[in-house]
Amino acid sequence: MIYNNSSKIEIDKSAVRNNITFIRSQIGDSVLLSSVVKANAYGHGIDQMVPLLESNDVRHFSVFSSFEARRVLQASKNQPTIMIMGDVAEEDLLWVFEHEIECFVYNFHDLKNYIYAAKKLKKRALLHIELETGMNRHGFSPSDLDQLIGSLREQADYFELKGICTHFAGAESSANYKRICNQQKTFLRGIAKFRENDIVPDHIHSSCSAAILAYPEFNHDMVRVGILTYGLWPSTEMQLTYKIKNEIDKSPLQPVLSWRSRITDISYVESGEFIGYGNSYLAETDMKIASVPVGYGYGFNRSLSNTGRVIVNGMRLSVIGIVNMNMFLIDASNVEINIGDTVTIIGKDGSKAINVSHFGNLSDTLNYELLTRIDKDIPRNVV
Ligand SMILES: *Cc1c(COP(=O)(O)O)cnc(C)c1O
Repeated sequence: MIYNNSSKIEIDKSAVRNNITFIRSQIGDSVLLSSVVKANAYGHGIDQMVPLLESNDVRHFSVFSSFEARRVLQASKNQPTIMIMGDVAEEDLLWVFEHEIECFVYNFHDLKNYIYAAKKLKKRALLHIELETGMNRHGFSPSDLDQLIGSLREQADYFELKGICTHFAGAESSANYKRICNQQKTFLRGIAKFRENDIVPDHIHSSCSAAILAYPEFNHDMVRVGILTYGLWPSTEMQLTYKIKNEIDKSPLQPVLSWRSRITDISYVESGEFIGYGNSYLAETDMKIASVPVGYGYGFNRSLSNTGRVIVNGMRLSVIGIVNMNMFLIDASNVEINIGDTVTIIGKDGSKAINVSHFGNLSDTLNYELLTRIDKDIPRNVV
């Protein structure tokens, strides 16, 4: 593997432990925790996160595709349960059955394919039936249930019902309160219908990070938690609400990821000159500037042009000019820095910190989006 060494990412082992402990304290011992590691573990690295989570006794992982499921199995040191919430590529179907990977099924087309494959391979499909309850994305709608239950009864020998599930459409914002409650009602009606027909799943699950905090009564016996694992809140509103409700000032979560690069060049610009591409930044005095070898091609969003901040030697410095594909410039006037000094893009340096949500606000990017855009070829080291 050839890594991109112009910056590096650190994954904080003790932060993972802290966050898992926090999640468990919220859901209690009787609820099964599935750690969501889709999109390369929210940019943190499946290879690094899976063993770390396993060392914290996580044995259930959720991903979105058979490609990600393969990567989790490769990274695992135990025998995890892996659940695919999205798409199984046709060519991976045999592998999915052989490795007893569990899958969401959300339409009759896929159900038919799974049953067909199960018959052919003489194995049972391990299915989670996803119900459409109001997000209007994926799942069997209430009007499908009679037909669905009919098919399931007919094909009972060819699958194990691992779960019945749904997904909430924005539990992180109180603006969606009514919609989430309606989803819960529809979900409960669906579950009751299965029960009346003696179809009993191993698990019932609907909640993501936001839901375990805002609607703990909707946990059932299993939850699928992503963003909290990485030490980030699903939204600023949730963070504030949690702190106010619990009368605490300090977040119970610890960010797992830090992203650092280094100064590669220092130069001097005379007053009146433009800096970088075009004319977005005019030096109004004589300036000292420094370059950092990270750009939008690595996930440092172009919208951070003239607005981003980094930390060097414990000082917060501003991004100036347009972020390039492979580098950006910072204003180092009046500060003591040298080529080779560490540049913290996300994380702590001395008493200063730049967290993902801060960075996201500046670039108008969601925590989730920002993390998953960080180049996967930047080396990730567990510390
Ligand atoms: C991503 C995802 C989750 C986890 O969401 P978080 O907000 O990161 O906890 C849960 N369920 C489904 C279906 C998802 O796609």
